[in-house]
Amino acid sequence: MKILVINAGSSSLKYQLLDPDTKEVLAKGLCERIGIDGHLKHTPTGKDVFDADVDLPDHEVAIQEVLNILQHNHYGVIQSMDEIDAVGHRVVHGGEEFTHSVVIDRKVMKGIKECIPLAPLHNPANLVGIEACQDVMPGKPMVAVFDTAFHQTMPPKAFIYAVPYRWYTENKVRRYGFHGTSHQYVSQRAAEMLGRPIEELRIVTCHLGNGASTCSVKFGQSVDTSMGFTPQDGLPMGTRSGAIDAAITEYIADQRGYSGKRVENVLNKESGVLGISGVSSDFRDLEAAAAEGNERAQLAIDNFCYKVTKRIGSSAAAMGGVDAVVFTAGVGENSATLRAKIMEGLEFLGLKLDPEKNDVRGKERIISTDDSPNAILLVPTNEELMIALDTARLVREAELNGAL
Ligand code: ADP
Repeated sequence: MKILVINAGSSSLKYQLLDPDTKEVLAKGLCERIGIDGHLKHTPTGKDVFDADVDLPDHEVAIQEVLNILQHNHYGVIQSMDEIDAVGHRVVHGGEEFTHSVVIDRKVMKGIKECIPLAPLHNPANLVGIEACQDVMPGKPMVAVFDTAFHQTMPPKAFIYAVPYRWYTENKVRRYGFHGTSHQYVSQRAAEMLGRPIEELRIVTCHLGNGASTCSVKFGQSVDTSMGFTPQDGLPMGTRSGAIDAAITEYIADQRGYSGKRVENVLNKESGVLGISGVSSDFRDLEAAAAEGNERAQLAIDNFCYKVTKRIGSSAAAMGGVDAVVFTAGVGENSATLRAKIMEGLEFLGLKLDPEKNDVRGKERIISTDDSPNAILLVPTNEELMIALDTARLVREAELNGAL
């Protein structure tokens, strides 16, 4: 089986063609500057890379170019479009309606549209991606996989904010959580690596990339997560503040004469570790600057690690304990120093990091000591594979039920 995975942004489109059964990636790529001019980078496994400007006036043309290059006689990996069995789409927000991945039909499209106010930048782009695929590949089964769906198992006490209840019932204000596909994938892999059923494990997953969130995965289900109504909540990130005292917004607007929009923009784009350090949002730059004695870069790192540490503690408390902690995404997969700093002070939870095993990058590995009562693991995330697996499963089920 071959599944095309699409992650459409407003001016970009990432894709991967993979086989969910062998987990083999046949090709992956990125269309950029859609609607501006256009650039396509296509990386077929075991073949030459195509990397050039290509006219991409809209998403439909971008999808068509992706299909063309997938079938190209030099850069291609398939003979014809018929070899693509289904398309899996990443969709950012599924609100409360979508608790699982779903086969896309008219009703699903309407549901995704209804979630636009909750994700005004992302859902419209995801919809454009789906519609472009439908136009270029009419009749091809398509599945939507939501960033929020995995967290829909959170109990009300975890997702409700302590604000007037009508803000929830009338305005949909609640914790939704994001990175769900990643948290689900790495928790499942961690259980497999530990050789134990996920139904008996309490796992704290730490997705630490440009965006960062933690999740309490109890017996395979999300029961709490650090991101909230938007991805702005929770941990400090590359450029996002994470959770702050809500009163700061109004105070700083008064003090600095900013509009509400401008404050929001600063909290999203000029805060986080970039805001504290004034150096960079990239942890590699911060570690280099800190090593040269830059105190604010060091403070940004210390603040980030301290908050992740505290969050692991509270994530464990949400489950009455913890059997495993998992690190993933850019920082979690690559920085042994940050992982070590985060785990300092968590030995009281029976989590002992092995400095030698921790000396690793981007590879699946158990990095706790042999005598650690609970496990610490590094699991590179693979959202595309998770989307392909869900797509394949749902399309096979629908075919069996005669729904396709
Ligand atoms: P995104 O959330 O955009 O998908 P990623 O998960 O790719 O982000 O993470 C990107 C971040 O990972 C970079 O901004 C950088 O801070 C961090 N990162 C990548 N490699 C390293 C490294 N070797 N050491 C420390 N941080 C790293």
